[in-house]
Amino acid sequence: MATFRFKALDEVLDRQAVEVVREENLVSDYYGMMVFDQEKMKKYLSREAYKAVTDAVKKGTTIDRKMADQVAQGMKAWAIENGATHYTHWFHPLTDGTAEKHDAFIVHGADGGVIESFSGSLLSQQEPDASSFPSGGIRQTFEARGYTAWDPTSPAFISETTLTIPTIFISYTGEALDYKTPLLRAIGKADKAATAVCQYFDKNVSSVRTNLGWEQEYFLIDEALYMARPDLVLTGRTLMGHASSKDQQLDDHYFSSIPTRANRFMQDVENEAYKLGIPLKTRHNEVAPNQFEFAPIFEEANLANDHNQLIMDIMGKIARRHNFRVLFHEKPFAGINGSGKHNNWSLSTDTGVNLFSPGKNPKSNLQFLTFVVNTLKAVYDGQDLLRASILTAPNSHRLGANEAPPSILSVFLGTEVSGMLDLMEESVVDRKMTPEEKTALKMNIGRIPEIILDNTDRNRTSPFAFTGNRFEFRAVGSSANNASALIVLNTLVANQLQEFKVAVDALIEKGTKKDEAIFQVLKKLIIESKSIRFNGDGYSDNWVKEAEKRGLTNVNSVPESLSAYLRPESKELFNKLGIFNESELNGRVEVEYEKYVMKIQIEARVLGDIAINHIVPTAVQYQTMLLENVKNLKEVFSTEEFESLAEGRLELIREIGKHVSAIKIKRKEMIEARKQANVIEDIVDKAYEYEKVVKPYLDEIRDSIDRLELIVDDEKWPLPKYRELLFVR
Ligand code: ADP
Ligand code: MG
Repeated sequence: MATFRFKALDEVLDRQAVEVVREENLVSDYYGMMVFDQEKMKKYLSREAYKAVTDAVKKGTTIDRKMADQVAQGMKAWAIENGATHYTHWFHPLTDGTAEKHDAFIVHGADGGVIESFSGSLLSQQEPDASSFPSGGIRQTFEARGYTAWDPTSPAFISETTLTIPTIFISYTGEALDYKTPLLRAIGKADKAATAVCQYFDKNVSSVRTNLGWEQEYFLIDEALYMARPDLVLTGRTLMGHASSKDQQLDDHYFSSIPTRANRFMQDVENEAYKLGIPLKTRHNEVAPNQFEFAPIFEEANLANDHNQLIMDIMGKIARRHNFRVLFHEKPFAGINGSGKHNNWSLSTDTGVNLFSPGKNPKSNLQFLTFVVNTLKAVYDGQDLLRASILTAPNSHRLGANEAPPSILSVFLGTEVSGMLDLMEESVVDRKMTPEEKTALKMNIGRIPEIILDNTDRNRTSPFAFTGNRFEFRAVGSSANNASALIVLNTLVANQLQEFKVAVDALIEKGTKKDEAIFQVLKKLIIESKSIRFNGDGYSDNWVKEAEKRGLTNVNSVPESLSAYLRPESKELFNKLGIFNESELNGRVEVEYEKYVMKIQIEARVLGDIAINHIVPTAVQYQTMLLENVKNLKEVFSTEEFESLAEGRLELIREIGKHVSAIKIKRKEMIEARKQANVIEDIVDKAYEYEKVVKPYLDEIRDSIDRLELIVDDEKWPLPKYRELLFVR
């Protein structure tokens, strides 16, 4: 294997960066060419069909069968002209990644042969064999049917030669089996609740949009090296590997010059992204060696999330063209930075106002403060649910690891906005204010500078940070489907805004003036949620202590964190807002527990195999070589000389023996632990057992392997090392 490793490196050195040919000179010339967007709809659809789709997108109306037929005809014509031979419903099941099943357009023709055909019913709804997708027991086998239904708010596109139609995926009884369905529900609820609150400030607002700008971090690894690491291939992360003597200590990777090979990969990805209407904007080197980031211009959240899922898929495929593999795992390498996917989140009105942008006058600033404070309260109340939405087996290696947000939820507001909230807290709004007091307060509110987007006032250690015109939820994992976080965030905010409106209306009813009522309720919310506000260093130990004093929760255990979903108040919240009924919620949480167990189980198996099949034989072989050497020394030298010469070698021999024994013993114990965990029926109990009893072996066995890596002859070591994986580029 060592020879393989060196051959691989040789090949790498030979590899020229693949040339990338842009479609046209200007991106704006070919942007969206593979998307059935407004422009194409106008060209390929009748006026009424066009109106049916745009109404569905803007007003949520349904598209009847006759119209659907017309849309299907137009889509088919466009798709075939652009080289498509197949179509697929594309959805986000509760697995990592998306699902698609391609069908050719062909049907039998009247006189033998085939013709191309695509109908409204095929566009609108399909019934995939759903029994193999996780549902957490919602879809009993006796009612295994599920169906996908067209989501006209996310336009169809052509991926390679397939017309791809974004869809939701639900059970026969209408329960969500995917991420998109509840995401659309939660976006809709936030729209309604936020629009109602906007009415206090502007009667012209008729809808509020959720925006998402994701920042996708990832690693690029040379394909030959990747292939020589069964742990990377099977689990997405390295289960062993001693730290490279140099990794990120010198801070010399972040924002440094992008290596040509990586840059070519990025250009290729961008090329495809632009054809698919994905507005990639930013690319850069991240903190860890061979770690990078892509970020688009933000879009409506449902569309943005489809685009994120799509880009992850595209990146995986294009990486191979460049002899790379892309890693989306949250912590592929121990000891250096992991990867996240910051969710930049905001709400904006159909009148063009970003509700998290401070305004030009006291009125719009009061609206701004209303939305900031309600978000603050939503995060405070929902800290455990927000954590549950992002804490997964892979992300648990990253959170709290000194480079990533801690497992404590807190909100950074910056000095300007914090100062404003402090003023409001101290204000006298809870009794009738004098005209002078009112003027003073309005003056203060009017003073929030319009632009507080200031890079110096940024806190990169906060899991949930206000960044001038949006909130950035930084704890989301790089491999996650953003919907998981957004469903919870939008649900919490929608609920909070509803409660806010009820409270304000009640005061108005009792005769309080509108502005004063808003002030009073905001003041109360500011006081209640105060402990979630933290502008300091989220990575410090002091914060952990301080947070505990404040009564904030701090959970790094996935099974414990997930249990937040199952509390009666959570069930009530999701049910009340129509996001999840109880069976949907239970099913979803069960899937998460299952995933957790499976991921640890797979890692344990892979580590056990590699330890026994790769590491132990190599170590024993090297030990035998040393033993031979000792024997030879003994033959040649006098006893006295021999003793001084052999001393170091004997020590190595003993040490190798010690680690080999430890690996063998621990592996056996780990298998036993798995056996015991596997017979546990209750999935929650099983997850705890895996966490407490199986998972620690991963670290213990790794420790022995990593020590052997430093002892055994490099020529013999069977796996590419960190210094190769991270620095070959
Ligand atoms: P950072 O400096 O935080 O790393 P990036 O430029 O990498 O910033 O990414 C910022 C992301 O936030 C981009 O996707 C950008 O489009 C998005 N964004 C900017 N303004 C908003 C907004 N109002 N709402 C949502 N996302 C936004
Ligand atoms: Mg960034």
